[in-house]
Amino acid sequence: MTTITLVHGDITEQHADAIVNAANSSLLGGGGVDGAIHRKGGPAILADCRRLRASHYGKGLPTGRAVATTAGRLHARWVIHTVGPVWQPDEDRSGLLASCYRESLRVAAELGAASVAFPAISTGIYRWPVDDGARVAVRTVREAAGGPVAEVRFVLFDDVAYQAFETALAAAP
Ligand code: ADP
Repeated sequence: MTTITLVHGDITEQHADAIVNAANSSLLGGGGVDGAIHRKGGPAILADCRRLRASHYGKGLPTGRAVATTAGRLHARWVIHTVGPVWQPDEDRSGLLASCYRESLRVAAELGAASVAFPAISTGIYRWPVDDGARVAVRTVREAAGGPVAEVRFVLFDDVAYQAFETALAAAP
């Protein structure tokens, strides 16, 4: 059984085996969670990302996929970088958003991570409506969690996101 918990706060302050980064496909950093993780985690994360780019992802990490690096100075063993879809009002891209959570959990399980902290992927710079993003996140984690992952923690930066996840969790599975 995997326990799902909600935390109001900054994902870079979390103690967890794996911290998920809402990355962009370049893997070279950006704003939001991505910028905060690289700032706080230090240059070792970017160095690993550059190595991954050179060896596997010269064209970028595709949307919906996930890869792990060191967590540098964060209180974690790994950062799992996943690329969320940009919200498109005229196209249902929720399969790609679900894939971010599923693939991140698959990578976490492969690594043997017991605890995984997720931000609300795509709900910032990528403009996904947070209520819907929360529903996709909770549904997918409920379906996909298990194995060595005993705790999935959603780390929400503001009240609106926290409420959205609380509502999604309270809804019938
Ligand atoms: P994306 O590009 O996938 O939309 P963002 O990093 O812009 O990713 O935002 C994803 C979500 O994370 C947003 O809800 C944003 O408010 C939130 N967020 C931004 N910084 C942090 C942080 N340090 N810790 C946790 N959540 C954060």
